Amino acid sequence: MKKNNELKEKIRHFCKKAGADLIGFAPAERWDEANEMPPEFRPQAIWKQACTVIVLGVAMPLPIVETTPSFLHKEMYTAANQTLDGLAFNLVRYLNRLGHPAFFLTRDGFCSLQVLRERPQVIFSHVMAAKYAGLGTIGVNNCLLTPEFGPRVRFVSVFTSAYIPPDSMIEKDLCIKCGACEKCCPVNAITQREDRARGDYNYTACLDKHIELGRYKNYPCGICTKVCPIGKDRDLYQQKDINIYLREKEALAADPDDPAYRAWTHVRKYGSWNAQYPPARKKEDNYGHK
Ligand code: SF4
Ligand code: SF4
Repeated sequence: MKKNNELKEKIRHFCKKAGADLIGFAPAERWDEANEMPPEFRPQAIWKQACTVIVLGVAMPLPIVETTPSFLHKEMYTAANQTLDGLAFNLVRYLNRLGHPAFFLTRDGFCSLQVLRERPQVIFSHVMAAKYAGLGTIGVNNCLLTPEFGPRVRFVSVFTSAYIPPDSMIEKDLCIKCGACEKCCPVNAITQREDRARGDYNYTACLDKHIELGRYKNYPCGICTKVCPIGKDRDLYQQKDINIYLREKEALAADPDDPAYRAWTHVRKYGSWNAQYPPARKKEDNYGHK
């Protein structure tokens, strides 16, 4: 056991140094005990040597999430994804150097939104893995809410055959059922339920919104992560005013230059395509190539 705790500390140290904001450890049996995911989406079905799942998270800084939908948010999302894949790839090779077989799944388990439209299931849920690794609980918005960053965090998972002492799961739901995600979702894809924290989620409506935003290069939406009041990142940025999100749509419809939203509308107006400033048709698309 002492040896396994030493390995856990080595992994923690390696991942922190490499830039991970969150690190959690889940035993592969937690998928079977919980029986929430279909058997073929559990770690040992995907890679039979899996004994421990190490979940790494990187934060999405709040002020950039607040600009969504925007090019800036898309670029940060891409940077977070690249960071996660690099972290996981390096951790696999680090574990190999220590003599432990390992395997990883990229942060998004799909190659395009169109594929998800045809077959709405990713290869593996990092959200469930992060829950089993004790990093947070699932909220009404179907995201993992963490004490540190609420839902403004992305995850990747590394499997290893090494036994590593697991982290405890968080028992009390972090979601306070404030309803902000439900109210602000542009396509009403989220519906609260009385009987559990996780809301009903219209996957197709959300996916179609992402496909639409993809045409403007403003994917992903992420409004349900922006408006969530949970997370200590709100203390860091001193941004606790959820009403600003609840009023946003109406306020900008009344005055697109409303000063309360200028920081976000500036980014959307000058950095991004949107419905007001759509991309030019192909034959006219000669920006910078005269
Ligand atoms: S990502 Fe956007 S469209 Fe999808 S559920 Fe969240 S708020 Fe709604
Ligand atoms: S916005 Fe409110 S209801 Fe939605 S996940 Fe966050 S705490 Fe829960």
